[in-house]
Amino acid sequence: MYKFKILIEGYARTGANGVYFASPTSSLIYDEKVKVLVDPGTNADALRSSFEREEMEFKDIDIVFLTHYHPDHFLNIRLFPNVDLYDGTTRWHGDQEHFYEGRLPGTDIELVPTPGHTMEQTSLVIETVEYGIVFVCQDVFWWEDGKQKSDNVNDLLNNPDPFMASWKDLQNSRKIVLDRADWIVPGHGKMFRNPRRN
Ligand SMILES: [Zn+2]
Repeated sequence: MYKFKILIEGYARTGANGVYFASPTSSLIYDEKVKVLVDPGTNADALRSSFEREEMEFKDIDIVFLTHYHPDHFLNIRLFPNVDLYDGTTRWHGDQEHFYEGRLPGTDIELVPTPGHTMEQTSLVIETVEYGIVFVCQDVFWWEDGKQKSDNVNDLLNNPDPFMASWKDLQNSRKIVLDRADWIVPGHGKMFRNPRRN
């Protein structure tokens, strides 16, 4: 069983002068042995504040996990120059690439390939006391600010994604998430309860 915390709720919006602002949901999965930061995002100030709030320092993080390679999800890896980087298949330690599948090494955190938004996109599945099965599936689901529609399964399956690589894969990945999750963490938007559990 892990504990789970949203550090920054993901957002995406057009601001003043047409500038687009986006940072994904940054979250923390932890127990006594390990602290995993999922998608450090783009907003360094918000990340620093969230660490202060949790009375943590950047050096306390053991694993920085990237769900997929879109810059809004990984820009802040520069704040963790000494930490190995983990994605859905590989731990990057300097020039060494260590491959794995199934679980994040040294943890019970399950890795589930959920392609479609991008083809390498991987979700993390954790068992928690507070929320049951949590799927940190990031951009399998995401919305611009104020547009979240996560109350019913059809809206979730059909939610358009202007940046997707494959609609067929994306829909299939959404079904995988909706079959198993109690709670779902989207890339941009609020964590929500799987409507199938309501
Ligand atoms: Zn993305």
